[in-house]
Amino acid sequence: MKTLFSTIIILLQFSSVYSAEIKKRAVVRDDNFNAKIEEVALPNLTSDNSYEGKFFKIVNGKNNNAIRFDDSEDLQLKAATTYYHINKARKFFTDVVKSKYVQDLPQIIVRVDLINVFNEVGHFANENLDPQFNNALTIPAGNGYGPKNVKPWGMEVWFRPSKEINIKDFKGAVDLVSVKGSLKDFRNQSHMVNFQTYITDLLQGTATGANNLRLVESSIMIEAIYQSSDLAAEFFSRKIYRLDAALVPEIIYHEFSHAALSDHLELSHSTPVNEGLADYFAGKIANSKKLAMKIKDYNLFNGKQVKKKQQYQMAFERGEYANTDFVFGLLWNVGETVGTDIETNFIYRMTWGLSTNVSIRDDLINATLLTCKDVCKSPLNDRIKLYKLYYSKNL
Ligand SMILES: [Zn+2]
Repeated sequence: MKTLFSTIIILLQFSSVYSAEIKKRAVVRDDNFNAKIEEVALPNLTSDNSYEGKFFKIVNGKNNNAIRFDDSEDLQLKAATTYYHINKARKFFTDVVKSKYVQDLPQIIVRVDLINVFNEVGHFANENLDPQFNNALTIPAGNGYGPKNVKPWGMEVWFRPSKEINIKDFKGAVDLVSVKGSLKDFRNQSHMVNFQTYITDLLQGTATGANNLRLVESSIMIEAIYQSSDLAAEFFSRKIYRLDAALVPEIIYHEFSHAALSDHLELSHSTPVNEGLADYFAGKIANSKKLAMKIKDYNLFNGKQVKKKQQYQMAFERGEYANTDFVFGLLWNVGETVGTDIETNFIYRMTWGLSTNVSIRDDLINATLLTCKDVCKSPLNDRIKLYKLYYSKNL
């Protein structure tokens, strides 16, 4: 009787996950890392008519109801793509690095097509205030604010709608001040990469096509976008920039990585270390040989194809460098130094010793050396290899 009773309890617990397999069209990568739209099975759904699951609920803008299977094709493509890839990212953190923190996270709301700036007190700032496009971010939970009828909210992932920006707007050939102004605005709107370098190079470049773009010192996001040849025309062209962040798997992985690491690294602001870590895990979740090869060749830290390899500079500690790929390149190399069979666990374990606002030169480097004592296969030799790596970069 007791066994039957427990069986019923277990059945009740599991019955909340919808059992029939539901397939929807989503953006995925093929073996060559090109983006394509394909039917995929959506895991862990708890609804048979909307994008709500055990771990994530995909909503439109400020709405709190899940996007439905009878909503527009465009909206559903964003819902299905974010739902599919964010579940994949979660599975990486629960199954590969065995994160207890991620295992225990409550359901996360994922908002697509949201233009509001985040407000720590009010959740959403007024939409007239600096509407946001072409990027993504992960926000911390908040207590709400009774007098203004703002309810408490949990950690959320936000994707902005895309908006075309004509490259002409950055050129401002006659007025240098406006070029600088435009670049700054552009970069503030573009959370993921050092777009200043990107755009500057783009404007000065003479050759056309992806080959030219690839020569830019790249971080994973921009690399991912270059490589997605078929959709790239939509994301980037010589004249127009627009980015539908909800349709780029690596951006979805990057954002979930922030959520997964938020037990030690707060979500309140971007730092070079937390952005580098989110890029690192996004690269590992993507699990693409082609992407890994490109990162190896083109990372600013020691990429084979990068003409001017980057030495460490004090300036890299500053938040304004959060989107350059120095830390990302460094972590990728640390991983290869300690061994590709343990690298992911190594980097994850290392995050336990970090906190928000850690420095690269002292805290991050020390955390790798300490972690190596516990995790490396030959702690002494591997630490010597790490010291050599850091020395070569003026660290
Ligand atoms: Zn980020």
